[in-house]
Amino acid sequence: MLTAESSDARWTAFLAHDASARFIVAVKTTGIYCRPACPARRPNRENVEFFDSPLQAAAAGYRACKRCRPDEPSADGPLVGRLKSLVRAGGRVTEGDLASIGVDPSTARRNFKKATGQTFAGWQRAFRNRNAANALSAATFDSPLGRMTAIVGDDALLMLNFVDSKYTPAVGAKIAKRFGVGDTLAEIIEHSDDKLHPILRQTRQQIDEYFTGTRQHFDIPLDPPELPFNRLAWEALINIPYGEVRSYGQQARAIGRPTAFRAVARANATNLIAIILPCHRVVGSNGTLTGYAGGLHRKQWLLEHERAVLAKSQS
Ligand SMILES: [Zn+2]
Repeated sequence: MLTAESSDARWTAFLAHDASARFIVAVKTTGIYCRPACPARRPNRENVEFFDSPLQAAAAGYRACKRCRPDEPSADGPLVGRLKSLVRAGGRVTEGDLASIGVDPSTARRNFKKATGQTFAGWQRAFRNRNAANALSAATFDSPLGRMTAIVGDDALLMLNFVDSKYTPAVGAKIAKRFGVGDTLAEIIEHSDDKLHPILRQTRQQIDEYFTGTRQHFDIPLDPPELPFNRLAWEALINIPYGEVRSYGQQARAIGRPTAFRAVARANATNLIAIILPCHRVVGSNGTLTGYAGGLHRKQWLLEHERAVLAKSQS
C-alpha cells in the first residue's frame, strides 16, 4: 500500500509533468493509465490511482494511453540523445563544447537529469569507466562499398561489417552486452582519431590497402570462435586464396567433414568479420553467389575486385 505521503509526492510529480518520475497514473473516469509526464489534461485528484508499474495498472483493468505509451521503453528525447552521442563520439563533453554547438549547459544538465534520473556529469563518468575498464571501442570509416564499423575488445578485432548490413546492429548489441557497456552498438565508445585503438587503426589501414589493391592478406589479431567446428570453418575460410572461390561442399571437405556443408554455410553466415574472414569467396556449387549479409552487390564487387587485381599483377 502507498502511504499518504508518497501518494502526495506522486500527485505533485504528476501535476509537474515530471519526466523522471517512475510510477504509473491511472484515471478512474477514463479507464486509462499514463506516464506522469503525459501531456493529457490533469483529472481531479479523487479520480486518480497510482501504480508502481504498467503491469499493475493493466492487472487492475486499465488500458494503456495512446499518447504517452506507458508500456514502451521511455525515449530520451532529442536533446538527451544528442548529449549521449556527443559523449560516445568524443569522450569528455565540457560546458564549452555544449556552448559551441548552441546548447545551453544548464538546460542540458536539467533535461538530462529529468529524462534519465542521473546527472550528465555522473553519466559521462560512468560511461567512461565502463568503456575504459572493458577496453571495448569502435570505429566507423568509409570504404568504396560504404561505411564500415569495426569493434575491438580484449585486444582483438571482434567485428568488422558494413554499417547497413542486416546483422551489424544485433552483433554490435551482443558485443556491448557481453562487455557490459550497454544494450546497443551505439553505446560502444568511438574515440577520436588520435586516441584510436591500435588494432582499429591497423584495421582501417589494411582495409584501405585491400580496396586499393595493394593488400591480399591481413595481419590483424582476431578473436577465434569458441565452438571447435566454427573454428575449423573459420580457418578454412582464411585459407581460401585471394581471388578464388570455393563451394560450401569444398569447404566441408577441407575441414574433413564432407557431409557438413550446411553447418559450414551456417558458420559462414554468422561471420562477424567481413572481408578479413573472406566469406565472400564462398559461393554455390553451380557458381551462383548465394547469400551475403552485406548484400549480393557487395559480394560480386569484392570478387570482381580481387580478380581484377590478380589479372593486373599477372599482366
Ligand atoms: Zn497518457
